Amino acid sequence: MKKVLQDLGFAEIENLIHSLGEKKFRAKQLYDGLTKGKNISDINVSPGLRSALLEEYEDEPVKIEKSFVSSDGTEKFLFALADGNLIEGVLMKYKYGYTQCVSTQVGCCMGCKFCASTLGGLVRNLTAGEILSQILTVNALHRGGGGEKRAVTNVVLMGSGEPLDNYENVVKFLKNVSSPDGINISPRNISLSTCGLVPKIYDLADEGIPVNLTVSLHQTTDEGRARTMPVAKKYKISEILKACSYYFEKTGRRYIFEYSLIAGENCDEICASELIKLLKGRPCHVNLIRLNEVEERGLKSAADKQAYKFLGLLEKGGLSATVRRSMGSDIGGACGQLRAGYLKNKD
Ligand code: SAH
Repeated sequence: MKKVLQDLGFAEIENLIHSLGEKKFRAKQLYDGLTKGKNISDINVSPGLRSALLEEYEDEPVKIEKSFVSSDGTEKFLFALADGNLIEGVLMKYKYGYTQCVSTQVGCCMGCKFCASTLGGLVRNLTAGEILSQILTVNALHRGGGGEKRAVTNVVLMGSGEPLDNYENVVKFLKNVSSPDGINISPRNISLSTCGLVPKIYDLADEGIPVNLTVSLHQTTDEGRARTMPVAKKYKISEILKACSYYFEKTGRRYIFEYSLIAGENCDEICASELIKLLKGRPCHVNLIRLNEVEERGLKSAADKQAYKFLGLLEKGGLSATVRRSMGSDIGGACGQLRAGYLKNKD
């Protein structure tokens, strides 16, 4: 595989242009073209520069292989990477703008029992530019440019992969996607979701990129959590809460817990009172998610009535909580479902 030009920030593009003996203004031309989601071969630079770049860099590191539109307008994308690997993404349309869900790894090695992304293990990390290109491609599809002209206004790192297990590339991506030189999506409009890799939460807090931290909690006890999330054997809930407090101290950002409601597992009255005990008084919000049932996993979602009853209990106990609107469930909206289904049908 060739290198990915979208890995580079503007200053690095300037250095590259300088090292190729090109005039300085070419850097801006090139970077603006990339920000608009163009392939190298479509960017208006001199033919000599174009062919020098194409010798070393992928022309189109992330290509839309297939797209699906849900009845609620949500769009789901299957992207092909230059090496043939597939990843997926979702675009959700809200009144305030478009939120894109991006993948950070091909597959995942975290092994959560309800998740489709981890079924085949981790294949490889995405580079910073491969994460960014998912956005640049979809932004271009919706006729967006950089800065004020962008169509994608919000980003969630909630596609396949564990972002903090691909820490360096993800941090580089966060710097590039929020750079005022490029598409310029503010860290406040970016949410990073993690299954709870505690040391990396501390590292992220110290990066000075105040994205919204979201932690997948899903259970109220370490034993219960370890039943569905192997990572819980390594890091205790108490350690996660400490790391979240540090994140809040450093960034001033309220953090979010995701809690997927699994029938018979985590959504009775006892769980509600345990959750209240854990989280009451903390600057946090709880996002209740109805489980997207993954055939291979055999776990069942709580019924809507149960979800709203659980929500009522949390609110009564003084927690800030919402049931997440389920979008795109008719097109396999859950993490890894699209890729898993596609790979299965191909064999
Ligand atoms: N690796 C990160 C990002 C993953 S996906 C993390 O673990 O947070 C974003 C959220 O979707 C996580 O909370 C994840 O636990 C949840 N999730 C995965 N599969 C799901 C499913 N089938 N139904 C509901 N939520 C699911």
